[in-house]
Amino acid sequence: MATTQRLNHSTKVIVTAALTGAVTTKQNNPHLPTQPKEIAEAALRCYEAGAAMVHIHVRDDDDSASMRFDKFEETVRLIRDTGCPVLLNLTSSGGQGFSWEERIRPFKELKPELASFDAGTMNWLNSVVFMNEPKFLELCGQEMIAANVKPEIEIFDMGMLNTAKYYLKTGVLQAPAHFQLCLGAPGGMEATTENLLYLVNHLPEDCTWSTFGIGRGANEITLAALALGGNIRVGLEDNVYYNKGVLAEGSEQFIGRVKRVAAEFGKELATPDEARAILGLSRC
Ligand code: ZN
Repeated sequence: MATTQRLNHSTKVIVTAALTGAVTTKQNNPHLPTQPKEIAEAALRCYEAGAAMVHIHVRDDDDSASMRFDKFEETVRLIRDTGCPVLLNLTSSGGQGFSWEERIRPFKELKPELASFDAGTMNWLNSVVFMNEPKFLELCGQEMIAANVKPEIEIFDMGMLNTAKYYLKTGVLQAPAHFQLCLGAPGGMEATTENLLYLVNHLPEDCTWSTFGIGRGANEITLAALALGGNIRVGLEDNVYYNKGVLAEGSEQFIGRVKRVAAEFGKELATPDEARAILGLSRC
């Protein structure tokens, strides 16, 4: 049996709030923020609830999935203008069918602390191909290095982890890497403790990691992450229900739960500055 590695004995847990995503709709949950002002307000509420980082997608005027630069620009400005120190993590996918330029421009020009880097192509939700072809990933990684934006490497299955390790070797990604282990998306690995443990045991040395579960396995993954010393993502992008049949009142509600359970483990939620130190971010 594999030895469990990379136990993090830090008493701090970085919570990332995934506010909007590309798939969830207001019909799924009316609290979903979709326009810049709503997203910025949700980001502030999540920061006040204990999130150190917010993961941001934007939507078009009709709330459909979008990579519109002006929407990112407005959202980032609204958050930064408040002086809120929460770390910003912009998506580099935003949905399906966007051009490489549309996917790269937001992090390249707005320079968030982090941006997502999806380490492979997959059949997304058994409906469409989520394209992340090698040439795009090479360009994306190089642009993140040039912009001094740390990639949050999204891993949906074991093959993607191997791909990320390949890019760490070739220099498309740089150590220490930060991983987001995304479990429970149809087309990827299921949200189970067994799968999380497997991925954690195969992470490269010298990295940090966070995780979340979509759907039924969400709470299980939160508890397993705390037990394994990981960081945690929550929010309406990943789950619209707080509990079975009970709609969440906002992403901040999930943060309250993580904070309470973390306290039972003797842990506290990291502040943005503590998260910067844990993630080795050179910028402040
Ligand atoms: Zn996302």
